[in-house]
Amino acid sequence: MVFLALAAGIAGADGEPIALVWSPGLASPDSPDWVGLHRLAGGQIGLLPEAGMREGGEIRQIDTYDPDALYMLISPPDRATLERGELPVQWARALGIDGAPDAGVLRGLRFLCSDGVQSLVRLPESLRGVLREPGGRVQELPRPREVELRTAPPAPPPVGARDAELWQALANAANSDRLFADLDYLSTTLQTRYYSTPEMDLACEYVLAEFEALGLTAYFDPFTYHGHELKNVVGVTLGSVDPAQIYIVCGHLDSISPEGETLAPGAEDNGSGSAAVLEAARLLASLPCDYTIYFICFSAEEQGLVGSEHFASQAAAEGLDIRAVLNLDMVAYHEPQGDDLWVEGFYDGVPSVWLMDLVQANAETYADLLVYRYEGNGWGSDHVPFHEYGYPAVLSIDNEWYNYPCYHQTCDTVDWLDANLWRSITATNAVSVAQLAQVQASVGTLDGKTVLPGGGDLADVSLHLVGTGYAERTSAADGYFVWNAIFPGTYTLVAEKLAYETVTEEVTITGGETTTVELVLEPVGSDVADAVPGNPHVRLQIMPSSVVDDVAIRLDLPAPAEGRLVVYGADGRLVGTPLRWAAHLQGAHTLTWRTRHTDGTLVPAGLYWVRWEEVGHSISKRFVVVR
Ligand SMILES: [Zn+2]
Repeated sequence: MVFLALAAGIAGADGEPIALVWSPGLASPDSPDWVGLHRLAGGQIGLLPEAGMREGGEIRQIDTYDPDALYMLISPPDRATLERGELPVQWARALGIDGAPDAGVLRGLRFLCSDGVQSLVRLPESLRGVLREPGGRVQELPRPREVELRTAPPAPPPVGARDAELWQALANAANSDRLFADLDYLSTTLQTRYYSTPEMDLACEYVLAEFEALGLTAYFDPFTYHGHELKNVVGVTLGSVDPAQIYIVCGHLDSISPEGETLAPGAEDNGSGSAAVLEAARLLASLPCDYTIYFICFSAEEQGLVGSEHFASQAAAEGLDIRAVLNLDMVAYHEPQGDDLWVEGFYDGVPSVWLMDLVQANAETYADLLVYRYEGNGWGSDHVPFHEYGYPAVLSIDNEWYNYPCYHQTCDTVDWLDANLWRSITATNAVSVAQLAQVQASVGTLDGKTVLPGGGDLADVSLHLVGTGYAERTSAADGYFVWNAIFPGTYTLVAEKLAYETVTEEVTITGGETTTVELVLEPVGSDVADAVPGNPHVRLQIMPSSVVDDVAIRLDLPAPAEGRLVVYGADGRLVGTPLRWAAHLQGAHTLTWRTRHTDGTLVPAGLYWVRWEEVGHSISKRFVVVR
């Protein structure tokens, strides 16, 4: 988005009047931080509306900017009243003016533009009184800040093949199980993280403890807002080459809803971004880096970017050399169609186009995401204050954020979150900050064998690293399996094969080394527990024990038997008959149940039982359907 303007007055060196420009579609009605007056490159002043930016609306000049005047957004005083240059009744009352408005008083009040929701007016200082009792929503737009133009830092070095393998391994290592585990506490145990609640303090304590446990230099960055003692939570890993050069990964921790004091789970907004910051720290904290990384969870974002404004202004005042800011806000809500990741930055002031390029390239290359590049300048989250203080900053947000049905609602809970998208956006930002800060790491190898008790090779065992993006493996005829490029860290390895007990093993990978494991899989069902009285050798197995689509059922009938295989739900109702009643059944039968009702509709998620029924006897096995 380009704002056409002339420089003058406070900014324009040449004394030319400043054009105030605007595009249709003033502001989203639900948060003050969507709109503001912004000084643009070369000193122009622009009104950055939300909707207007979305549609890339036409740009027009609406005023000559007057630094001494008040600029206010008003809704709902009716537009017609303002367009007539009259004071809304409420304002007249607020100004203690009875009866017909006095023309004198109106002088200086200018109606500038409206999108039917809100109107922008310019008022002389003398009319500040109307702010006290507006009879509708009034928001004074703060004066635009003088911005010190900083030169964009150099883009990171090109990625070589070995690096590409390393960055792919890092991307794969991001773990969705760990992300959900964070929200078990932050979004489920804690019912709210509204900025002024004790629960928000507990959430800050949780993040601090995580940072400390990772060996980061962790601390609270305190500030006061509306009489509340609040804090941002910061974890730092210092660079070894130039510790003064700083790269930030951040997201706000606080949440909001109409019942903020008691119920604001904020899973998507912004538990998802906070957990992503924690996961990036888990992936990178133990590794050396050339430059310094700050992991930050901000407070009071929903109150108007208060925590990040505090941090950015302090950083600018102290002259911190922040080279790039990667902000994550709402990164786990997904709709099947369209793009996945929305990347936005700034084209004016300190441009962050190079940073958007980096994040977009990493998202497409290492996380297989479809990226939407927002054409307008960033708005509405914690990347904005950094930009305004002259630091390159970008936002990662899921592409359908504006369709999220539980935005700022009490229903913003974890069951809306898409594990894969969340993990992929987290991975994208972890790779981006690792490249920027030049994290030093090398991949390791994980290999091993799947064997039977007593040592025989066991082929065709499916192996996966829980919660990660690493591709599954299947052990070879000799039981061998290998992952060649695993990012250093600790993983949960699971080995599964039909008719065998599932094996779970914790493995630690070290860069440049090979970790070898031997996994012994016990055959399932040899014990009496599974046998049908009178037909001791019947075996019933199901695989896997949690399914999305098909469940494989294996029935071993060493002796002739008469019976059927059925599936029951937790409510005891019959939902499927993989094998109808039959006599003279014998031998091994492998059947598939498609987790659908007889009418073809999918059965809901939940617990189910496969049961082999004979006259008077039955055995059953439990499994889970996940949707
Ligand atoms: Zn948010």
